[in-house]
Amino acid sequence: MTSDKVIKRLSKHVIFYGIAVLISNTFLAYIIGMDQVIQIIREPVSLHAGGFAAMIIFSFIFYIVFARLREQVCTTICPYGRLQGVMLDNKSLVVAYDFVRGEPRGKIQKSKLVQQPALAGDASEEYINSVQNKLGDCIDCKLCIHVCPTGIDIRNGTQLECVNCTACMDACDEVMEKVSRPKGLIRLDSIEGIEKGDRKIFNTRTIAYSVVLFVLIGVEVLLFSLRSDVEVLLLRTGGLLSQEQADGTISNLYNYQLINKTNDSLIIEFKLLQPDTGIFEIVGGAKPSVNKNSKSEGAAFIKIPKNNLESGKNKILVGVYSEGKLITKVKTTFFGPIK
Ligand code: SF4
Ligand code: SF4
Repeated sequence: MTSDKVIKRLSKHVIFYGIAVLISNTFLAYIIGMDQVIQIIREPVSLHAGGFAAMIIFSFIFYIVFARLREQVCTTICPYGRLQGVMLDNKSLVVAYDFVRGEPRGKIQKSKLVQQPALAGDASEEYINSVQNKLGDCIDCKLCIHVCPTGIDIRNGTQLECVNCTACMDACDEVMEKVSRPKGLIRLDSIEGIEKGDRKIFNTRTIAYSVVLFVLIGVEVLLFSLRSDVEVLLLRTGGLLSQEQADGTISNLYNYQLINKTNDSLIIEFKLLQPDTGIFEIVGGAKPSVNKNSKSEGAAFIKIPKNNLESGKNKILVGVYSEGKLITKVKTTFFGPIK
């Protein structure tokens, strides 16, 4: 342990921790929103003890992943790799070793190094000899195993631990270049591609997955386009009956909740659309307002002339407006006197 080594190691761990803090803050922003995260960072710790503790815990977890666990997260903790196995079949493109070309593997003697046939235009005598010697192209140098971050031997076939980093492909290509053999002994291919030489990107399964994916994207686009900027919940206050007023109207008390999904604060107005003879009266009188990306609640009376009510339980339609523009409509029930 020299001072130089200590400085290097310390710097490495400081950098790891810095990256972990960045990732954990981004992760936290997914859960509680970016505004909230910025607020936690800016304001005193005492105001956000819970949020601050979450940041520290997440940062520490990510730091441990970087500094200690690494590929063990991919092989034993992360469920994604395990799920992927379910989706593979013999036609799936994966990082694969060409066992047809590579086996039987065996070390070559320097004197038998050959010209690459593809580059030379025709197969060299030495190359033919090596085939005649019944040795495959894999020279069993084990470089593909040494460079593998999860420590597997891809020559044993597709394995759960493979994270498709393609490091073994690059390492093997370099070896093939040095021994003047065609590259691609380890390549992106399917089992059928290797066995039959029939490599297809599109097969029934990929087409089916693509169709499902496009349907899901379509549904999502549709939902986004139909999504209203303000979500309104308008419910009759439980346990209360309708009341007959002196002016001949029937009133019901409601509770409303406004969820503003926009980045602007809004002043909201309610209007009765069906029947259009009634009035919507906010308790307290002031027009409801709702800040950007937040919600607000309140109570209101709806009053409808008795003659406009058809039965004891009526369906009514309320329009929600902001700056005179109709944002959305809400249906609710209105109780009148039983006829
Ligand atoms: S790097 Fe290529 S040649 Fe070397 S052992 Fe792996 S597959 Fe065989
Ligand atoms: S080096 Fe990468 S691609 Fe190759 S076997 Fe290992 S994890 Fe898979």
